[in-house]
Parts: sequence; C-alpha cells; structure tokens
Amino acid sequence: MPHVITQSCCSDGSCVYACPVNCIHPSPDEPGFATAEMLFIDPVACVDCGACVSACPVGAISPDTKLEPKQLPFVELNAAFYPKREGKLPPTSKLAPVLEAPRVERGDGPLRVAIVGSGPAAMYAADELLTQQGVEVNVFEKLPTPYGLVRAGVAPDHQTTKRVTRLFDGTTRLPGFTFYLNVEVGNHVSHRDLLEHHHAVLYAVGAPNDKRLDVEGMNLPGTGTATEMVAWINGHPEFAHLPVDLGHERVVVIGNGNVALDVARILTTDPDDLARTDIADHALAALRDSKVREVVIAARRGPADSAFTLPELIGLTATHEVVLDRADHELVQRDLAECTDPLTRNKLEILSKLGDADTPASRRRIRFAYRMTPQRVLGTDRVEGMAFTVTGGDDVRTLPAGLVLTSIGYRGRAIRDLPFDEETGVVPNESGRVVGAPGTYVAGWIKRGPTGFIGTNKSCAAQTVHELVGDFNAGALRDPRGRPVHLDRLIRARQPELVDVAGWKAIDAAEVARGGDDRPRDKFTEISDMLAAAATAPKPTMRERLLAGLGL
Ligand SMILES: Cc1cc2nc3c(=O)[nH]c(=O)nc-3n(C[C@H](O)[C@H](O)[C@H](O)COP(=O)(O)OP(=O)(O)OC[C@H]3O[C@@H](n4cnc5c(N)ncnc54)[C@H](O)[C@@H]3O)c2cc1C
Repeated sequence: MPHVITQSCCSDGSCVYACPVNCIHPSPDEPGFATAEMLFIDPVACVDCGACVSACPVGAISPDTKLEPKQLPFVELNAAFYPKREGKLPPTSKLAPVLEAPRVERGDGPLRVAIVGSGPAAMYAADELLTQQGVEVNVFEKLPTPYGLVRAGVAPDHQTTKRVTRLFDGTTRLPGFTFYLNVEVGNHVSHRDLLEHHHAVLYAVGAPNDKRLDVEGMNLPGTGTATEMVAWINGHPEFAHLPVDLGHERVVVIGNGNVALDVARILTTDPDDLARTDIADHALAALRDSKVREVVIAARRGPADSAFTLPELIGLTATHEVVLDRADHELVQRDLAECTDPLTRNKLEILSKLGDADTPASRRRIRFAYRMTPQRVLGTDRVEGMAFTVTGGDDVRTLPAGLVLTSIGYRGRAIRDLPFDEETGVVPNESGRVVGAPGTYVAGWIKRGPTGFIGTNKSCAAQTVHELVGDFNAGALRDPRGRPVHLDRLIRARQPELVDVAGWKAIDAAEVARGGDDRPRDKFTEISDMLAAAATAPKPTMRERLLAGLGL
C-alpha cells in the first residue's frame, strides 16, 4: 500500500523532509528538482507511514487504496520515475539532506526586512526569515487580501492546491510578522521609504504582464488574455468588471500551457460542479448562461512540444471530453513514432487515445489543435473568428469564435528605482541580490521569470534569504534610520485604509461565512466590501499599538 502523489502536487518539498526513508524525489538538493513536473514516491521504498500526507500543504498525497478512479493513473506515474524492481526495499533510516536555514549571527538588534508582495515567494521568504528570533518582517501587499496567484490565479476547481494558504496563514501568526495589506509600494510608500526603515527590501511582486500576441485584430472586443480571464473567474477586484461575453459557441485559446488548460476546463465544466468552489459569483452566473460548446486550444508547434504538464493532462482527460481532429491524430502518431523521451511519450500516448472531433459532442468539450500559427483575428466590430496558417506552410485555417484568448506566457513589470532587464522581463540579480542596488533583493517570478509551481518559490526564496542574512551578518546592510513606530505612522498617514492581520482574518471569516455549507468561501470582489469586512476586526489596544510600534 504505497502512498501516491497526485495532480495537485505543488513541489514545495515539505513531504521530502517528512519522509523517514527518503523515498520522495527529486528532492530540492537534486538536479531536476526545479524543472520536475511534480514529485514522485518510490513505491518499492515507501514504508506507508503517512508522514508525507500530513506534511503536504495541498492534500496531494493518498495511500494507493484511497485514490479516486480519476487519480489511478498517478500510481503508474509515480512508479515510472524509478527503475523497475521487484518486491520491497528493506526499510532504512535515511533522511533527505535538509538545506540549512541561514543563521542571523549579529546580536546588536533585530534584522528588519520589508517584503513587497504576499504571493508564495513572499510568504516562503517571510517564513524562512522568521524561523529564528530577533527578525522582524513587514509584508506589503497592494490588495486588501493576500497570497497573490494562489487566490487570483489557481483555478477554483483546484481547491486542494489553494489549501497552501493555511501554511501562509500560519506564517502570519509568527512573532515578528506584520501585514500592511492594501498598501502599494511605489504609490503609498516608496522604495526609499522602505530602505530607510529596514535593513533590506525584498521584492516578490510576481510577473503580472501577459506576453502580447502581435497580430491584426488583437484589440477587438472579444479578445483578451487567459490570465485576465482566470483573474475574472477568481474574483480579482481589478478584473471583476471585465466584459466577458459567452453568448457564442466557440472560444479559441492560443497557447497550450497549464493556464490555457485551466481556462478551457472552467469554460467546459458543469456550472453545478463549479458552484461548490470559491469561483466568483459573477463568473458562475455567466457560465450558467454560457452558450459555449467548444474550446479550441491552438498551439503553434506539434503534439510532442505541448507545453502543458503530464499531471494536468491526466487530470483534464479524466473529467472532460477532449478531442483531436483527424489531421492532429496523424501528427500524434508521427511524433510517437519518433519520440524517445519517456515523459513526452506518456503525453503522446494519452493524446493518441482522445476521441475524434468529427464525433458529435455530447457535452461541452475541448479540442487540441496543433501546428496553428496565428495570422489575424476575424471581425469588424467584435471578434468573429481566428485565422491561422498551418505552421511551416501557406494553408489558411479559420475558426469561427466569439472569444479569442492568448495564453503565451508572462513578463515581469519594471519596478521604480530598480534596474530591469527588458529582454528577460526580470530584475537582474545574483542569487536574489539585486545587481547595483545595495540592500535590495528579489524572489519568485520577478527574480527567475514565470516558471515553476507554487512550491518552487520555496527554494527560490530560501536562496535569496540566505544571501540577505549573509549580507546582514557581514555588516554589508545599512542600519535602518527610522524607528518602527515612525514607519507605522508614515504608512497609516499615507494609506488610512490599510488592512492588518486582524483585518485579513475578518475578511477571510466573512467570506467563509458567506460560502455557507456548500462552498469553501464566497469571495468579495469589490475592494469597498473587503474594507467593510476588515473594519469589523477588533482594533489593537493603544498598548498593543505602542508595543508593536516599538518593535517589542
Ligand atoms: C493563472 C495561473 C494559475 C496557476 N496555477 C497554479 C497551480 O494550480 N499550481 C501551482 O503550483 N502553480 C500555479 N501557478 C504558478 C504559481 O501561481 C506561481 O509560481 C506563484 O504564484 C509565483 O509567486 P510570486 O510570489 O512570485 O508571484 P505572485 O503570486 O504573482 O504574487 C505577487 C504579489 O505581489 C503583489 N504586488 C505586486 N506589485 C506590488 C506592489 N507594488 N506593492 C505591493 N504588492 C504588490 C501582487 O498583488 C501579488 O499579490 C499558476 C500561475 C498562474 C499565472
């Protein structure tokens, strides 16, 4: 009865260190960890103790006897990562080597760090810093609600993945942690303000810009990006009023990464199933009225170059009707004949078993389309379709559609007062230390670009914190000139509507209560509603304010 890691694996590696026999790989110290599509349990070495189940922040691990039918392919997927062996390995007491936490070695007052952003990279960095005493971390987030793309990006039907927020909530309770939510750095406070009041400023602001597709018609009503769509589905306040029209039969998504799959899946899922998630009310209402029958996911290259991960493909095909047309089935067969990479072969084998697009659809469905180079959006006043050329040729294929979404990747946005590499879309850095900007660090997507899973940001943040603490120990960081009480006053003067940890807890509790028995939460999508909920939080007493302001 070995345990099995399933689709919602976030790759943060917590399970690796909980395992008493080191049977989960690749571990963070091993090559391939950063690019692995998920982690895998060795069924021959697993002693079935269940320690990994408790450690996993996203509920991705189960004994093989408790898997749902749709999760059964993950038994083989976990096993396939290891060489074939018979029987069981004798139990060992070997543990994965734990990466050493950086130690603050100066005793002359606390290390004060400002973290900008509250997504996974920020929260993992805060956690890493607060593993020891004498560190103070102020986290600044522009929205009244924290956790970045976990709240606003991860699809609502992936609720187990969103459970990682419980881990982050735990970090907010650590001594030395302060939230300044609804405070935008660069607007309410400047980089210089933060440097004056902290030893270091760590930016973990993500990569919020979509790469744009430069073809005629991409500005017509009915065009957009998959990320905007996901933000609308997830109730991000800046996207709650996006004009999404689903009164037509086909949506085209250009690009075939995991986010394209997320959008296609949500658009074709039974709304009654979505009604049990935390999907935004406006999105659920639009999906109930939707006339969409087919979502085409169009990729420039062939099946062997599909950008989606194998776990996501397994998950999608287990629950949804996914088809290929005849020409694409032939491309899959051709790629299968030539492909030797086991992971890609696995994907191709699943694709080869998909239904035929000629068969009449029994429900809303998804169609993968390959070797489609976008040529132009069709329509005059709004989108009526999309024209493609067959990649490498001149043949033109047109698809009637009412909505055309691009999903071709992300870019970081330049941060005022910091260097920025326009080509790669990241802040130039050496292991997280920003080049030419003393006291300034980066973690997450703004540091390494938009790749990896939620948990990939854990080792990324740990590396940055390691550099930061090393610089502090070496006396390379300037002591803050302003006292914490002055920072608190400054921020409250610039943004009287800031939300603290108690305010976030009040928003969280109100959303959970609105969700009732059937939904994990019913999200607020207007900032005014979030602030009204936050205002019901108990106010800190004068003494608490004073102690916090003194840094005690
Ligand atoms: C649509 C989508 C779906 C995804 N789904 C999954 C999934 O299912 N599983 C998985 O493992 N990974 C998923 N990922 C990847 C995962 O979300 C990322 O790896 C992770 O969120 C990156 O973390 P980050 O902290 O760098 O950035 P983000 O999560 O983007 O966090 C950045 C934060 O900084 C804040 N901010 C920005 N500028 C400022 C400022 N000036 N002042 C204050 N705050 C600021 C933002 O509001 C945001 O909260 C998904 C990604 C996308 C785009």
